[in-house]
Amino acid sequence: MSIKLYNTMSRRPEEFKSIEDNKVSMYCCGPTVYNYAHIGNLRTYIFEDILHRTLQHAGYDVKHVMNITDVGHLTGDGDDGEDKLNKRAKETGKSVWDIAQFYTDAFFKDESHLNIVRPNIVCKATDHIQDMIELIKKLEANGHTYVSGGNVYFSIDTIDDYGKLAGLRLDDLKEGARIEVDSNKKNPKDFVLWFTNSKFKDQAMVWPSPWGVGYPGWHIECSAMSSKYLGDHFDIHCGGIDAIPVHHTNEIAQSEAASGKKPWVNYWCHGEFLLNDKGKMSKSSGEFLTLSVLESKGYDALDYRYFCLSGHYRSQLKFSFEALDHAKSARESLVKRVAELKNSSVCDLGQKAQDYKNQFFAAMENDLMAPQALAVLWSMLKDKDVTDGEKLALVLEMDQILGLRLDEVKPLSETKDDIPEDVKALALKRAQAKKEKNFALADEIRNTLKDMGYIVKDTPQGPVLERV
Ligand code: AMP
Ligand code: ZN
Repeated sequence: MSIKLYNTMSRRPEEFKSIEDNKVSMYCCGPTVYNYAHIGNLRTYIFEDILHRTLQHAGYDVKHVMNITDVGHLTGDGDDGEDKLNKRAKETGKSVWDIAQFYTDAFFKDESHLNIVRPNIVCKATDHIQDMIELIKKLEANGHTYVSGGNVYFSIDTIDDYGKLAGLRLDDLKEGARIEVDSNKKNPKDFVLWFTNSKFKDQAMVWPSPWGVGYPGWHIECSAMSSKYLGDHFDIHCGGIDAIPVHHTNEIAQSEAASGKKPWVNYWCHGEFLLNDKGKMSKSSGEFLTLSVLESKGYDALDYRYFCLSGHYRSQLKFSFEALDHAKSARESLVKRVAELKNSSVCDLGQKAQDYKNQFFAAMENDLMAPQALAVLWSMLKDKDVTDGEKLALVLEMDQILGLRLDEVKPLSETKDDIPEDVKALALKRAQAKKEKNFALADEIRNTLKDMGYIVKDTPQGPVLERV
């Protein structure tokens, strides 16, 4: 297996080599659950799912961990954001815990409609506060922290390679920092590990700690949970590109300073943004679309998945209903074609079919070139030199990565819902007669059905009605 992945750390595509043979350890930053995920967020999770499936198809045993940020999440680098969970709780009159649970459930409903494989481990920040405290204690013992104004800060001047992921230069950082000034900080890019003195005095989620009652900063959860489940050196870390300059930069600083080992992660993979007319789709702008809005307009969640597959994950993708309509009709044609093919039986691949297979998986294994892979799939389906049985075998294998539920498509004969009720009733009666070994009656009904214009085929999946 030879997989190439673009590594944000080296800024180039690299040959993927796992730390352990045939195994991949992968951590993906999960959702903040103070609101519905928008379709931009979901684009990132679809990219991560495609990566997971591609690695799995290539023969790796993938251990995929994702967190749920259910603790107050600040938008800024220090104490300069707003706690969105708290804000949402006040707006709705519900508890922060209820808000977090509600949006976590909504997120997994979207993921299942999108046929996203559930990560092997889904971990909530609020279940791992003690792990975060232990990590901060380690950083404190290693001399990377200071307490100021009641909060514990990470001192970026105690490490010599801060900002390497984003290619940030420390001189520029000091001068050009555009963040709200926190006079407690020694360096404007220092960040909070533990708050006891937040500007929000009505924080609902707080825990005791060696530094006082408070709550964690917004980067420590990913460092703590990833190392708990994957160790202090693992293969792949994913997220959206907005995580590069602050969140992932700070995760690296903390994790490498705590363990003393470098690199913490071998491959950093980031998905580009989904755009709308005004630019990046974002929760804070308030102008965003959810999957359920698309579904209420008559789209299938898989139309959106197909739409995402039509762009490369490292390119920006502009959303429009016109583009979604194209994806919908392409996906529906694919489903129709597969329904026709399902009247054939899968068979072994000849040379031509094998070439298509190689091209498809080579595209996916080359930094997940899904648009090219889809083009190969369509060429293959149109090729008269490939038999229907080969096509069916190929399309089902390709769908192990595409995830368009093509395995669930019914053969065309079964999907015809224009079969009259009396014909269906007779077919059922025949099935019952066969079950009771009343073959004479079963044959008589078969003949009646034939006279009515239908033949019954007994398949391993049960009897199937087809027009004569
Ligand atoms: P959040 O729930 O806000 O933490 O975001 C969840 C994931 O979605 C993160 O990995 C973000 O980087 C990513 N994300 C946010 N906005 C977009 C967007 N417009 N397009 C693609 N991914 C996004
Ligand atoms: Zn994270």
